[in-house]
Amino acid sequence: MMHEQSAPVPQKPEVGSRESEDSSRKTASRVQSLAPSTQSPEPSHPVIELNGIDKIYRMGETTVNALVNVSLTINQGDFLAIMGSSGSGKSTLLNLLGCLDRPTKGDYKLEGQDVSNMNDDELSNARLRYIGFIFQSFNLLPHLSVLRNIELPLYYQGCSSEESKQRAKELAARVGLESRTKHRPTELSGGQCQRVAIARALANDPALILADEPTGNLDSKTGLEIMQLLETLNKQGKTIVMVTHETHIADYADRQIHMRDGQILPEVNQP
Ligand code: ADP
Ligand code: MG
Repeated sequence: MMHEQSAPVPQKPEVGSRESEDSSRKTASRVQSLAPSTQSPEPSHPVIELNGIDKIYRMGETTVNALVNVSLTINQGDFLAIMGSSGSGKSTLLNLLGCLDRPTKGDYKLEGQDVSNMNDDELSNARLRYIGFIFQSFNLLPHLSVLRNIELPLYYQGCSSEESKQRAKELAARVGLESRTKHRPTELSGGQCQRVAIARALANDPALILADEPTGNLDSKTGLEIMQLLETLNKQGKTIVMVTHETHIADYADRQIHMRDGQILPEVNQP
């Protein structure tokens, strides 16, 4: 079952709320002047609740325990970095969070809904409704224009073409690409391609943005620009989970978890 809006219901703005003005002033200098889509002054709720998750890959005689008893809660508005060496289970965890795969054991609730036992169709509906993906290699369709690439998730949700075109234009402007909407990805820089991917990830106003090494294919200056954009989206209320192995990239997140041998190491509170 599909609904038009996947994100939490926008909250009533608190007119003249001094408290929120004061707390936002501290971060105002780091936030670009992008109009927020949804703001939620209400206490944040869990977007993700993982409880006792195992993921076992079976290949013939051998089994790999890719995730072992993983429990994790991610609240609305969190910006979480998943770190760990190669083979520690980061991608497996991200794939589960993104409803691309099912756990072998354990519970996964996404926006309060049990997704651990969903069938393939239900999983793909959940992806479309709740999740925006950003990949290291952008994963844009090369023969489609910037606007068409951004429109894709809206198309799959059955939005009318006029409506989705308008929304895609707004999103292109939101990531600073209003003058590039007719270009194809091959005519853009890596940083611009990642901006298109971010706009596409935002199209359905998902509750959760998942990013797998989003700066991995970018030079360091461009990578930082992309991180600033993600930081801005987070400040505007988007929940972001990002895999990275670079500490200066992970530092943009306000929570970091470290994985080893399929387990999450005890979390260290950040300032
Ligand atoms: P990371 O992303 O941290 O490098 P992965 O989640 O990709 O780690 O992998 C965790 C473990 O699971 C590794 O030992 C890997 O070889 C194994 N693995 C990952 N995907 C599969 C798969 N589709 N089939 C079998 N083993 C897999
Ligand atoms: Mg990986």
